[in-house]
Amino acid sequence: MRQRIVILGSTGSIGRHTLDVIDHLGSRCSVVGLAAGTRSEVLAEQAQKYHPTHVAIADASGFQHLCGALDNEATLLNGDRGLVELVEKSDCDCVVAAIVGAAGLPATLRAVELGKTIAVANKETLVTAGSIIMPQAKRAGARLIPIDSEHSAIFQAMRAGHPSEVRKVYLTASGGPFRTASIEEMRNATLDDALNHPTWSMGPKITIDSATMMNKALEIIEAKWLFDLKPNQIEVVIHPESIIHSLVEFCDGSVVAQLGTPDMRTPIQYALTCPQRLPRSSEPLDLVGTGQMNFHAPDLDKFPALRLGHEAARRGGTAGAVLNAANETAVELFRGGDIRFGEIVELSAQVFERHAFVAEPTLEQLLAVDRWARSEVNQCVIC
Ligand code: NAD
Ligand code: MG
Repeated sequence: MRQRIVILGSTGSIGRHTLDVIDHLGSRCSVVGLAAGTRSEVLAEQAQKYHPTHVAIADASGFQHLCGALDNEATLLNGDRGLVELVEKSDCDCVVAAIVGAAGLPATLRAVELGKTIAVANKETLVTAGSIIMPQAKRAGARLIPIDSEHSAIFQAMRAGHPSEVRKVYLTASGGPFRTASIEEMRNATLDDALNHPTWSMGPKITIDSATMMNKALEIIEAKWLFDLKPNQIEVVIHPESIIHSLVEFCDGSVVAQLGTPDMRTPIQYALTCPQRLPRSSEPLDLVGTGQMNFHAPDLDKFPALRLGHEAARRGGTAGAVLNAANETAVELFRGGDIRFGEIVELSAQVFERHAFVAEPTLEQLLAVDRWARSEVNQCVIC
């Protein structure tokens, strides 16, 4: 049976890699829905090629362009509500959640409520509202399959034992472009420096998050929700070669790892086909050519985001939502030239410490705290 797929965020790095994988999988898959924020010309090209029944774009001017550019029968939807409608109306089996940021939350949550299979790349949604999404997925029978390479590795390694037998997981991190830089060099790093990731090619927001290591902080919280782990079971290890994507230690002392070349198409394909494994035409891993693999502990003074990630995972409640929203806003300000690189984590930490914590928030409270954190970060910069 053909798997009918919706891609939320189809014009981005994960979205386009997902379409590559779908091309490779051929008649196993069909694309029934495509959605993006902006870049209507790319979205229109994708729609002409894949003939989805529904296409959604958040941006209003992009919608006007899309209406003129599409000559096929697709139903066009607009605005944030349009993305949710796309999930409701397109007859799909699997939703690939590849929007960047908490903007992906409403459509992803709707897919969960409808009991779909969700291939999750959009970690910010889980970081913000894991406490709502995970119980809802259980109630609705929705399956969440990670795309994030570390979480895909853990998901695969977990199959070697029972969840109750897991002692610990090790999230690997390349260390990003500033692994060997001094704190002073990092403080004033330029946008180009921050976008120069040594091993992965990704969208701009996650690339900057990798440079501050806020990406790994968010991944600690993502792992807590996806695998029902206690925060002290999650340890970050720097592994500059990005060959081991993460490891699971079981209670008998066995450690199971997943390895591969750093190519997001591998975890995307696994998310679309698991538990089956299908051939891929990717570069095979050359162990002898790799030669060495290195591991060391992260420097928490240089990368204080990691402390924040552990702290937010430990506190739970509204902590993830506030940390995520503060960071998203600070990254935008850095990209716009309004703050220095070093201020991204500084501002996020200030707002994180100031927020009025709620231990068991409703979705409305999470959304309110998200809005509050964004406005606080912007206020800090105006003052
Ligand atoms: P990207 O910036 O390349 O693409 C983002 C996509 O989201 C685009 O299609 C964009 O149009 C869409 N979008 C942005 N704002 C939107 C809005 N308000 N409404 C609707 N759509 C909107 O980002 P990316 O690198 O593909 O990352 C996507 C997600 O996957 C992120 O959460 C990221 O952390 C996660 N992820 C990415 C990678 C990677 O290799 N790129 C790896 C692991 C996890
Ligand atoms: Mg990752």
